[in-house]
Amino acid sequence: MARRLSENKLVVASHNPGKVREISALLKPHGFSLISAADLNLPEPIETGTTFAENARLKALAAATGANLPAVADDSGLVVPALDGAPGIYSARWAGPGKDFKPAMKKVMDKLGKKDRSAYFFCALAVAWPDRHVEVFEGRVEGALTWPMRGDKGFGYDPIFVPKGHDMTFGEMEPVKKHAISHRAEAFKKFIAACLA
Ligand code: IMP
Repeated sequence: MARRLSENKLVVASHNPGKVREISALLKPHGFSLISAADLNLPEPIETGTTFAENARLKALAAATGANLPAVADDSGLVVPALDGAPGIYSARWAGPGKDFKPAMKKVMDKLGKKDRSAYFFCALAVAWPDRHVEVFEGRVEGALTWPMRGDKGFGYDPIFVPKGHDMTFGEMEPVKKHAISHRAEAFKKFIAACLA
C-alpha cells in the first residue's frame, strides 16, 4: 500500500513553468500549499535515469531532501514508436538550451517523414519524502502527430499532438479539457487515489 501524504505543504520539483502551472492546477483543488523548486532556489538535478520513472524519482528526491518537505516531480515526454520511442526521455533536451520547441517539433516531423504518426505522451509522477521514501505513478495518453503546428494554449509538443478521439491538438484545447484526459492527469489521479483519498 502506498504511503499516505499527511502534510499539506508540497514542493513542485520542476523548473519548467508550463509544468508547474499544470501540476498546480491538478493539485490546488486538494488544498495543498505549493512551492516550486525554482522559488526555493533548489538546483535542477541532472536527469541521469534511463526511464521516465527513474528521472521522476531522482527529481522528487532531490527536492524533498533539499527542502526537507515532501515533493512531487513529473518526468514526461512524447514517445513516437516509429522513431523507436524518440524523443522519449529526451523530449526536453531536443528543444536545446533555449527550450525552443518549434525546431524540436519540426525535427520530430522531419525524422518521421511518411512513417506512422501514432504517438503518446507518457508521465511518471514521483512523490518523495525527506526520509527518501518514494512512490511512483504513471499515466499515458494515446494520439497522433499532425503538421503544421496548431494552437498556443499548452506547452512543449502540444501543438502537434492530437489525442485519440479528438480533432483539436492539445495546443488548441482549453487547459481544463486537456487536464481531463492527459497523461499527467492520469498519473495524478492514481497518486490522489493512493496517497490522499
Ligand atoms: P522533463 O520531464 O522536464 O524532462 O520534460 C518533459 C518534456 O516533455 C517537456 O519539456 C515537453 O517537451 C514534453 N512534454 C511533457 N508533457 C507534455 C505535455 O503535456 N505537452 C507537451 N509536451 C509535453
